[in-house]
Amino acid sequence: RIRRRLQKHGVAVRYLESEAGGYLEVSGDDLPVRSLSPESWEGVQRVVTLTPECPHVSWGASSRGFASPTLVSVGSVPVGAGHFVLMAGPCAIEDLQHALELGHALRDMGAQVFRGGAFKPRTSPYAFQGLETEGLRILAEVKAETGLPIVTEVMDPEHLEAVAEVADLLQVGSRSMTHYTLLKHLGKLRQPVLLKRGFAATVDELLLAAEYILSGGNDQVVLCERGVRNAAGTAQVILDLGVIPELRRRTHLPILVDPSHGSGLAYRVIPLARAAAAAGADGLIVEVHHAPEDALSDGQQALRPEEFSQLVREVTAIRQALVEPTLSTRPGSLPAGARKD
Ligand code: PEP
Ligand code: MN
Repeated sequence: RIRRRLQKHGVAVRYLESEAGGYLEVSGDDLPVRSLSPESWEGVQRVVTLTPECPHVSWGASSRGFASPTLVSVGSVPVGAGHFVLMAGPCAIEDLQHALELGHALRDMGAQVFRGGAFKPRTSPYAFQGLETEGLRILAEVKAETGLPIVTEVMDPEHLEAVAEVADLLQVGSRSMTHYTLLKHLGKLRQPVLLKRGFAATVDELLLAAEYILSGGNDQVVLCERGVRNAAGTAQVILDLGVIPELRRRTHLPILVDPSHGSGLAYRVIPLARAAAAAGADGLIVEVHHAPEDALSDGQQALRPEEFSQLVREVTAIRQALVEPTLSTRPGSLPAGARKD
């Protein structure tokens, strides 16, 4: 009965007898079968899997896997595989003048990518929803004037073409991590994607969301830890820095940290940015506003430009002191902690 059920899903099944009892060896494309939770089927004692659940996202275990860390190019900025990146900008684009001024200031302070939301996923329908296509136009101008590549959020497949025209890195927000239709569309593009962890998502769910994009053919994916919701956390959020070594062990994709949404309050951003750099993140994405007290969204967690400058100095010093000496210099070798299973 179990063998027949397995075979119905197109895998080859062989019965083998051992001293410990009988077992069924399944070969072929077993991933669809595994999603049916065979460990819960009547008569099944145990399922032993030899291949990873996310073959594209995991370290090179199968012919589909990658053997070395993935380098994602955001415009001309390398992300991952030993390259550390600083992305900064306002939560939402509010007007051209301030976006341009901030873009120039942040570039001069060391930011390599400009962030800014045009389509904003707001908890309240009454909150500022972003300038939408006008915001995209402003971002295009910031890119042209400063030379900085742009990261901005795409919320809906309907807007994908317009956003992809301006964005060098397409952000999937925390609330959209499980928007699987959007992820499938992104899999068809050949453009980098910043996939933020859902604020209540497990690591497995994050990796499976990334697998949607990679299995579609787009391997330019950067993961981002942005804090998980927890009633016990300050500002109800806990930045899960333990996820950095965990993801490093399980995937070849670059790992960014967002200490702004991950802390919720501006005075906590720099300490958490320092911690993320020390824990081995491949970069940071930080919210900065010219006047946080006037911001139309997330002002409470925005740094002032001069605070971002302090962040850059401190994070750079930590990178140099702690992380860079431990990076492997051998091309093609796995970083410390990576597991080839
Ligand atoms: C953002 O980057 O402004 C944002 C909305 O982030 P998140 O999706 O992580 O909440
Ligand atoms: Mn924000």
